[in-house]
Amino acid sequence: MSAKIIDGKAFAADVRGRVAEQVAQLKARHGLTPGLAVVLVGEDPASQVYVRNKGKQTIEAGMNSFEHKLDASTPEAELLALVEKLNADPAVHGILVQLPLPDHIDEAKVLAAIDPAKDVDGFHISNVGLLATGQKALVPCTPLGCLMMLRDHHGSLSGLNAVVVGRSNIVGKPMAQLLLRDSCTVTIAHSRTKDLAEVCRGADILVAAVGRPQMIPGDWVKPGATVIDVGINRIPAPEKGEGKTRLVGDVEFDSAAAVAGAITPVPGGVGPMTIACLLANTLTACARAAGLPEPE
Ligand code: NDP
Repeated sequence: MSAKIIDGKAFAADVRGRVAEQVAQLKARHGLTPGLAVVLVGEDPASQVYVRNKGKQTIEAGMNSFEHKLDASTPEAELLALVEKLNADPAVHGILVQLPLPDHIDEAKVLAAIDPAKDVDGFHISNVGLLATGQKALVPCTPLGCLMMLRDHHGSLSGLNAVVVGRSNIVGKPMAQLLLRDSCTVTIAHSRTKDLAEVCRGADILVAAVGRPQMIPGDWVKPGATVIDVGINRIPAPEKGEGKTRLVGDVEFDSAAAVAGAITPVPGGVGPMTIACLLANTLTACARAAGLPEPE
């Protein structure tokens, strides 16, 4: 194996540590405590785990955590009323409505109801538009985490060929915008892309955000490229015992690590950065709301 393994767990711990220091300064100098409200509708097990981790890490960073757990049958109007209440609450600087929402609720309508200044997930159409036009926005957490790791590894990304496989609104598209903002030459690939292998082979930076276990083998990776594997896929792991499973990414790790210059593992790569960036976004939203300088 030749690639440097990018340790997302350690990187995320650094980001959280920096956020905690800045939160302590905000409190000491301005008497301000950033607050993050997380809304969970229903009992999706994965969402429950995410929400629990978010709450724990928010408190560890010295911020206020407000959790709102609503029944799966909660009417859309009730959820919208809660969002309005949080929009108006000065103690709340960030609002995150955990997705997916139950089928009877219109996700787009709920996301549109969040005050863009408190939209720490960066999914509101105003933030999407601000990012696309190169203006100050709140940026979706997962691609922001990927960008931080890429900048840390490369320094400047200017002029590099970046291929993003996946065009979702929450990962692929904002990732491409961020890479473009950093002056990469960006290709967005998706399920209709012709000769995906050849497209990937041209990438100095290859970001996989597909949701298909180990779809990208090592011979699609340009020697020396940086591979960011966003995928989180659970597959059977009979070697661990009957009925056991394990997590893998969208990239075939061993063969890719043999040729890449650097690669993120799954788990322990992009995943931990997402919550760290959520905390960073909440701090940013709080500083902006108070008219204070942006945290670095
Ligand atoms: P989506 O399902 O919304 O999007 C998947 C994208 O992959 C689509 O654009 C789709 O193309 C494309 N795609 C599907 N099959 C192929 C194929 N055979 N070849 C090329 N492209 C293909 O997924 P998300 O963006 O929400 O998530 C992607 C992965 O990232 C998932 O594994 C998810 O679990 C993970 N994830 C991880 C996070 C983290 O914190 N680390 C956070 C969010 C997601 P098309 O548009 O043409 O259908």
